[in-house]
Amino acid sequence: MRLFQIFCAFIIVAGMDCSSSQENDYVRWREQMVSDQIISRGIKDKKVIAAMRKVERHRFVPDEYKQVAYGDHPLPIGYEQTISQPYVVAFMTEALELKQTDRVLEIGTGSGYQAAILAEICDSVFTIEIVPELAQQAKLLLEQLGYKNIQVKHGDGYQGWIEKAPFDAIIVTCSPTKIPQPLKDQLREGGRMIIPVGYSQTDQYLYLIKKQNGRLVEKAVLPVRFVPMVNFEKKSY
Ligand code: SAH
Repeated sequence: MRLFQIFCAFIIVAGMDCSSSQENDYVRWREQMVSDQIISRGIKDKKVIAAMRKVERHRFVPDEYKQVAYGDHPLPIGYEQTISQPYVVAFMTEALELKQTDRVLEIGTGSGYQAAILAEICDSVFTIEIVPELAQQAKLLLEQLGYKNIQVKHGDGYQGWIEKAPFDAIIVTCSPTKIPQPLKDQLREGGRMIIPVGYSQTDQYLYLIKKQNGRLVEKAVLPVRFVPMVNFEKKSY
């Protein structure tokens, strides 16, 4: 009996050791991601860097990808969707020039990772996902992680979120072929929007848009590859 107890205690201690060394790996990989992929490629906003350092990206990917969660690439999250490459998340977040008081709309919740990064920086995040299972999963995870300033909604992001508008910033993480009119309308004066636009995954640009004196000033800033915005083609505009 005594021997059995000692054996069990050993197994428990060994298990704890193993999981804590795994946690250390994640911390190290995250730190490496921030220095090699984010800072060295020119991201300067301290709030963005701090958020990328803090949010545990491995919690947002399926179990089979946890070991590569901090790699320099997007990863599958199921339902033929992906979590974006860390650099693209940082680039888009920095482009929004977020302030602590900002209210932000995200279209394409996916895993919830981008929403968590935004929530670390600004006042509140409203995020819409068209795949019901992903919306539900992200909502649960973000609640578990303690985010009280994120609201997740299942629906078609093409329409924006009229009840919560206007927004200081809008980030779109799926690609329409034209900028949806409701999103333009729901951007506050002085607000910023970052959105991929293009006809195919090989012909897409990120556009940074600013609303100034009621007019939208658009600039193409980076070639990218996002999944298409679902349902978009059915809309009239
Ligand atoms: N921001 C996400 C990655 C998004 S991948 C993350 O951090 O993980 C793009 C997401 O946009 C997918 O989950 C896809 O289902 C969603 N999507 C596509 N079309 C949409 C639409 N019309 N409205 C809302 N979400 C949409």
